[in-house]
Amino acid sequence: MNNLQTKIDLFLSGTPEIPRDIIFTASQMFNEKLSRFNYKKLPSKSGLPSLSQIGKPMCQLQASKLGWKEEDKPINFKMMMTYGDMTEVLTVAVLLAAGIEITDMNKKVKLPTKVGDLYGELDLVLQLKLNDYHQVGEKSVWDIKSASSWSFDKRFASYDELKKQDDFGYCCQLFGYAKAEGVKAGGWIVVNKGTGEIKVIEADPGDQEHYINLIEQKALQISKTTEKVHFEKLYDDKLETYYKKSTGNRKLQAPCIFCDYKFACWEGLKYVKNPVSKAGNYEYYTNMARRYETVLR
Ligand code: SF4
Repeated sequence: MNNLQTKIDLFLSGTPEIPRDIIFTASQMFNEKLSRFNYKKLPSKSGLPSLSQIGKPMCQLQASKLGWKEEDKPINFKMMMTYGDMTEVLTVAVLLAAGIEITDMNKKVKLPTKVGDLYGELDLVLQLKLNDYHQVGEKSVWDIKSASSWSFDKRFASYDELKKQDDFGYCCQLFGYAKAEGVKAGGWIVVNKGTGEIKVIEADPGDQEHYINLIEQKALQISKTTEKVHFEKLYDDKLETYYKKSTGNRKLQAPCIFCDYKFACWEGLKYVKNPVSKAGNYEYYTNMARRYETVLR
């Protein structure tokens, strides 16, 4: 177990208490975070994605650059975002109370690339005493993520799993921040929104060159994306099966399900109740077999 995880677990076991001065610091952070409830996302002036976006699938970045219509945000969107911010405040309070040295927080950074600067805001720079990848007292960049139980167990099962399932571009984001700040990549402090568990996932700083090259390639391709013909759809829909038999319907799979441009990208896309499963979940259908189209009318 790494040093950071051990400290967090030691603090939380038994009867943890957050000292008053840390509660005061956290309350100021809370004020700042809550005021972000009113922020509006502005398009980047350079036309390049932010460091938190650059690792996303290229087709999503292209759709954004081309100004495709984003789907409307769900009614709970702002609440979800604010929950994430509140989780970050609580996690910082726990880290401080556990004796972890935070040298920078919510710091704006800039990563120059060959085609322009990419901007972002890192969560934390920590000065850890020792861990698998860092020397005593070396600084490293860490990101706090609040995750669903599924994401906590699967996407954040380990660093290797995260690299395999990185549809949200967390690795490019972290290594981009680390390079911009001139320190090593630390990793992610992941909080399970459902249970409150905290898991530390360490990144391998040896992957830095790979991810910085990837960021350069993506920034270059985005800078060249100026017309619809440059767009390349990277994912397919899939045939639906029920008890191993085809229903004839086709539906979206990840990462399209989470993409803001899915309705602009997939003509005729429908978000309707699954007509065959008893669970009756809503799903994104690109094509419905005729017999189900009439059921759904
Ligand atoms: S809906 Fe899927 S294929 Fe289309 S832009 Fe989004 S991720 Fe890419």
